[in-house]
Amino acid sequence: MMQDSFFSPDQGQDQAPHKQAKIVPVLVPLPSERPYSYLVPDGMSVQPGSVVRVPLGPRLVPGIVVDGEVDKVDPKKLKSIAEVFDCPLIHPDIIKFMLWAADYTLSPPGMVARMILRVPTAFDPEPPIAGLRYTGGEPERLTSPRARVLEHAGNGLAWTRTGLAHVAGVSATVIDGLKAQGLFEDVFIPAPPVVAPPDTNFARASLSEDQRDAADRLVEAVDAKRFSVSLIDGVTGSGKTEVYFEAVARALEQGRQVLILLPEIALTQQFLDRFHDRFGSKPAEWHSDLAPRSRERVWRQVAEGTVKIVAGARSALFLPFQDLGLIVVDEEHDPAYKQEDRVFYNARDMAVVRGHIGGFPVVLASATPSIESQVNADQGRYTRIKLYSRYADAALPTLKTIDMRRSPPPPGRFLSPALTEVMGKTIERGEQALLFLNRRGYAPLTLCRVCGHRFQCPSCSSWLVEHRFRGQLMCHQCGYHEPVPEACPECGTLDHLVACGPGVERIAEEAEALFPKARIIVLSSDMAGGVKRLRLELEAISKGEADIVIGTQLVAKGHNFPNMTLVGVVDADLGLANGDPRAAERTFQLLNQVTGRAGRTGKKSLGLLQTYQPDHPVMQAIISGDADAFYEREIEDRERNSLPPFGRLASLIISGENRVEAENHARALRRAAPHSSELSVMGPAEAPLAFVRGRYRYRLLIHGSKRADIQAYMRALLERAPKIKGNLRVQVDIDPQSFL
Ligand code: ADP
Ligand code: ZN
Repeated sequence: MMQDSFFSPDQGQDQAPHKQAKIVPVLVPLPSERPYSYLVPDGMSVQPGSVVRVPLGPRLVPGIVVDGEVDKVDPKKLKSIAEVFDCPLIHPDIIKFMLWAADYTLSPPGMVARMILRVPTAFDPEPPIAGLRYTGGEPERLTSPRARVLEHAGNGLAWTRTGLAHVAGVSATVIDGLKAQGLFEDVFIPAPPVVAPPDTNFARASLSEDQRDAADRLVEAVDAKRFSVSLIDGVTGSGKTEVYFEAVARALEQGRQVLILLPEIALTQQFLDRFHDRFGSKPAEWHSDLAPRSRERVWRQVAEGTVKIVAGARSALFLPFQDLGLIVVDEEHDPAYKQEDRVFYNARDMAVVRGHIGGFPVVLASATPSIESQVNADQGRYTRIKLYSRYADAALPTLKTIDMRRSPPPPGRFLSPALTEVMGKTIERGEQALLFLNRRGYAPLTLCRVCGHRFQCPSCSSWLVEHRFRGQLMCHQCGYHEPVPEACPECGTLDHLVACGPGVERIAEEAEALFPKARIIVLSSDMAGGVKRLRLELEAISKGEADIVIGTQLVAKGHNFPNMTLVGVVDADLGLANGDPRAAERTFQLLNQVTGRAGRTGKKSLGLLQTYQPDHPVMQAIISGDADAFYEREIEDRERNSLPPFGRLASLIISGENRVEAENHARALRRAAPHSSELSVMGPAEAPLAFVRGRYRYRLLIHGSKRADIQAYMRALLERAPKIKGNLRVQVDIDPQSFL
C-alpha cells in the first residue's frame, strides 16, 4: 500500500526497511491531466499550496504542491523537488477554485495552474534595496556639500545613496567620502509597496437617496461575510461605481482584499483616477499591458496580502489572494470577460464561483445586464438592486432612429444628412459629437473595379481590410498585412482598386470633408502608439480637445466625456446580421452603452441611430427606453429554444492544417458522441471562420437540457474519439459566446 496521502507520510503499513519516502503531488503549468509526483528531500518541508521548483525532463519548472493521493510508483524512479520558494502558500480556496475551473471548462488542471504561476520571478521575495543610515559622527572636514548631506541625513531615516545625493544636491561621491570616514552604515530598505494603502474615509461620497439604499444593501451583504450575488442594474451615469465603492470600502475596513474586474482596464485611466479621488490612492492594476516588473510586484504583494485592492482584467481572478472578501464585476455583460484561448472561461461566471468557494459576496454591475444575470435575478438566486435615474440633473440622451431608406447619404458616403446637420449644430455650440462604428480600418473589403479581384488573407478565410493611414491591407484575424498595391495582382490594371463599405478611417475622411475646421480624433484598438497613445487621446477628449470623435467599441466603455452631447451610430444594424443567438442582446447592450456616453453632465443630449430596420425590436427597445419589454422578449425566446440559461451549450472546435483531416476528425468526434436523451449534437459544420492562421476549422455544437451533465457527456465523447494526430487540435468551449 504505497498510496500515501501525504499528510501522514510516515505512518501506516510501510514494510520497507528504510524510512518511507515522502512523496507529494505537484501541479506543473503544462497540459497534463494529473499532478506529477515528486520526492521531498530530507530537511525540506512542503505542504499543499507551497510553490516549488521541480525538474521536468531537462528543465526546471515552477509548480504548486496540491492535496491528495500520489501515484503508485517506485520512489526510486521519482525526481526530487529542487527548491521551495520563499513565497506565501497559495490559499486552499484558490487551489479548490483552480481544480473547479479545470473541471468545469474541461481543461487540464495544469493549464489553470499556469494562469496562477505566470510570473516566474515573483516566487522569490523582492530583494530589499541597499541603503545608508547616518551614524551621528562628525566628518574630518565639514565642507558645504558635506554639511548639506548631513542636514538631510540627520533625521535617522535610511536613504539610498543616489536618493540622498539628489535631495542634498551633491554628487554621490560626497556620500562615498563620508561613508569612508564611518559616518554612514549599510542598511536594507524593504521594497516599497506598489500602491499606497487605500483610505476608506478619504472622501466619502454623499449619495442620493436611491444610491444610499443601494449602497446599504451591498454593505449589508459584505457585513454578512458569506456568499451572495448582487446585481446592480442602473442606467449609464446612475452612479453604480459610487455605490459599489461603498461595498469596497466596507470590505477594506474589515481588513480584507478586494478585486474589481473591468473589461478594458488598460484604457480605464479614468476609473483609476476616480478610485484615487475616493480612497486617496490608486488600486493595484492587473492586465496584460502591465510592465513585467510591475506584474511581478503586484503578484507578490497580493500573495503577501499587502496589496488590498486590485483593479484588473479577467486574469486577475487567478491572482494569489490571501484573504479575498469581495469581487466586483463591472460591466458584467461585457463579452471581453470571455477568454477564448487555451482555457475557455467566462470571468463573470468564474467570479461567482470564486465567491462561492471563498464564502464572500460578489457584486455584478451593468446598465444592460446579461440575459443570464437577469434570469438569475428573476429567479431569486441573485439580489437585484436597481438605480432608475442618472445622478444629479444629468438626463439620459434623447434617442432616435434615422431611417436610412428615407434619409440616405449621398452616393459613396455613409453619413445621412439628418445626422450631419445635427453634427454641425453640435460643433457650433462648442460641444462634442461621437460617431460610433464598430469597424477598424478604412474599408472592410477592397476589390478591383476592372476584374472584381478581392484581396484575401493567404492564411485566413477573411477579406483584407484596407488601413489607409498605414497604407496597408490587413487581416483582422491573424494580423497579416501587405502594402496596398498600385496595380491589381490579377489583371494588372493600375489604380482601379475600390474600397467597399466603411470603417472608422473612411468615416473620418467623410467627416473631414464635411467639417474641414473641426478637430477630429479617430480611436480604434489598432492605432499606432498602442495603449499609451489611446490613454492620451481619451484624456484629450475628456478635456474637450476634439470636436468630433470617431471610434470603435473601445470608446463605448466606461468613459466619461463631459462635453459630449451627440452620439451618432453609423451602422446600428451591423451586429444584428451575424446569426449569433446573442446578436440582439449584444447589439442592445452596445448601442445602449455607446449612446450612454452622451449628456453625462446635464447638457441636453441626443443619440441618433442610422438603421435600415427602424422597426427592429432592438431599435425599438433602445429608443423607447423600454428595456424591460426587450428583456422579456429575449428571455422568452431563450426559454422557448432551451438556450442558456434555460439550456446548456458547448462547442467543439476542430482545426488542422489539412482540410480533409480536420473534417474527418470532426466527423469521428460526431460518431463518438454517446446517445443521450438530454443532449444532442449538431454538426460538424465548417466554421463561419473556416480558415484562420493556416488552419481549417470545423465546429460541433452540443445542446440540451439544463439538467444535463454536459461536462460528463463531453468527457465521454472525447474519450471515445480517436486520438488526435499530427497538427490537429480540438478545443472545448463550455457556454460558448462566439460561434465563429
Ligand atoms: P455608472 O457607473 O452608473 O455609469 P458613475 O458611477 O460613473 O455611473 O457616475 C456617473 C457620474 O456621476 C460620475 O461622474 C460620478 O462621479 C457622478 N456621481 C454619481 N453619483 C455621485 C454622487 N453621489 N456624488 C457625486 N458624484 C456622483
Ligand atoms: Zn489572416
